[in-house]
This record gives sequence, C-alpha cells and structure tokens, in this order.
Amino acid sequence: MGLGRAVCVVTGASRGFGLAVCREMAARVSPGSALLLVARSEETLRREAEGLAERCPGLGVRWVAADLSTEDGLRRTVTAAEEMGEERGAETLIIINNAGSLGDISKEFCDLTDMGEVSRYLCLNVSSALCLTSSLLRSFPGRPGLQRLVVNVSSLAAIKPFKSWTLYCAGKAAREMMFRVLAEEEEDVRVLSYGPGPMDTEMHDLVSTRAADAELRLLYINMKNEGKLVDIEESTRKMLDVIQADTFKSGDHVDFYDCV
Ligand code: NDP
Repeated sequence: MGLGRAVCVVTGASRGFGLAVCREMAARVSPGSALLLVARSEETLRREAEGLAERCPGLGVRWVAADLSTEDGLRRTVTAAEEMGEERGAETLIIINNAGSLGDISKEFCDLTDMGEVSRYLCLNVSSALCLTSSLLRSFPGRPGLQRLVVNVSSLAAIKPFKSWTLYCAGKAAREMMFRVLAEEEEDVRVLSYGPGPMDTEMHDLVSTRAADAELRLLYINMKNEGKLVDIEESTRKMLDVIQADTFKSGDHVDFYDCV
C-alpha cells in the first residue's frame, strides 16, 4: 500500500510516539497530502506543525489543541479533518489513534472505588477513540479510489495483565476488541492494532516512578538503565512499514517485536 495523497489524523501528536509518527508520516506521504496533529498542548503543536510545514513544502499541516475526552474536542478535530479532506481530494485516509493515558497507576484494583474516576479514564482511552474513528469514517465514506486505514496504538497490556494497570490493561483490551469489530463490519477499511514496544517517553517515566507494584517499577527502571527500551523512531518506521507492506490481517495485533 502506497500512502499516496493522504489525509492523516494523528492523536497524541504533541510528544512521544505520536510526534514521531507525524514526522515519519510527513516524510512518506505524497505531495498534496495533509496532516492533522491533535493533542492538548497548544504551543507544542503550533511549533511542531510549523516545523513540519517548513521541512515538507508539499504537505498541508494543521493542528487542533483539543481535549479528546470532551465532545467539543472531538467535534473540532472532525471538522478540521473534513476541511482538509475537502481541500485535497484524498486517495488515503489514515487515522492514528495514539493519544492515551495510564490513569492513576499508584492505585491497585481495590483502590479504584470511584466510578467517576473510572469513567473519565475510559472516556479518553476508549470512548473518544471509538467516537473519533466512527465520526471520521462517516465524514470520509468509502468510495472507489479511497483507501481507509485505522491504527489503534496498542500495547502488550491489551493481552497480558500487569499489576497496578487495571485501567490501562482494561482500556487497551477494550480498544483492541472494538477495532476488531470494526474490521469485521467494514471490509474496505484496513484496521491495525500496533504494539510499539516499551519506549522512553513520559509514560515510561510515570511507570518507573508511580506504579503501585514495586516489581513493575523496578522492571521499568532496569529496562532503561540496561538500554533495553525500544527506539521511538525505529518503532515508528516499523509501524509504517507494516502499513505499507499491507500484508497484515485487518483487525490483527502486530507488535514491534513481531516485525523483522
Ligand atoms: P505520552 O504520555 O508521551 O504521550 C501521550 C500523548 O497523548 C501526548 O501527546 C498527550 O498530549 C496526548 N493526550 C493525553 N491526554 C489527552 C487528551 N485528554 N486529549 C488529547 N490528547 C491527549 O505517551 P507515549 O508516546 O508513550 O504513548 C503513546 C501511545 O503508545 C499510547 O497510546 C500508549 O498507551 C502507547 N504505548 C506506549 C508505550 C511506552 O512504552 N511509552 C508502550 C506501549 C504502548 P497532551 O498532553 O498535549 O494532550
């Protein structure tokens, strides 16, 4: 699959894996493509968008500073993507559901008694990924000449339980199943759940310092000290190679460590 003239929406684009995906995507799409960066940090998005636009003159770059756990944030994101689509007559729609959070990992299962806290977590990490994707697929309906691709940035936590990660594991597991259903229902939509591997990001630092489970904290500290973390750029390239090779079964989970 060539990425062609694409409209790409990347959530969680202000740092970490999402930002690396934007940079790599910008280098791979054809001139005339458009890239939409979404996260809450306005200044960072503005700076990154300006940098990308300067480096890639044929690329339209926009950003939306939005809290994706709110209806207003979702609506503004969808509107910006629609406007970019109208301007460009895209050959490919690419949605990268990357934004996410760990929740309060200083709490174990039995500490999670507040329904409001749990609902807020699921709202960002499950509901918003579902509603953003469904809304964008409706805004860009299937038609001859348009390829549609949805990526769920996943984790080993979607399939394996980890102590102190009740919300994170539950959210990632729910997302995988949700996107597998999408793959069953919409045969013309390519759906990939990609596990990027443990990377040196803010999320990683949080686990090293805040996880309730001491063994998990130590595991993360050791991974960093022993140089065992995955390079963000390498993981990004692997994900885009998987997308472009286009041999995965739609709906499947592909992990960084599965890729040669
Ligand atoms: P980071 O915490 O570094 O980045 C998270 C991104 O999500 C930021 O851009 C943040 O931007 C955005 N975000 C958070 N909350 C919201 C919100 N309410 N609305 C909009 N955007 C939001 O995470 P990583 O880069 O480490 O992780 C990216 C993805 O990869 C996540 O889905 C994570 O689960 C997954 N992953 C990460 C691993 C790792 O080792 N790091 C391992 C396996 C999977 P802002 O604060 O500006 O809103």
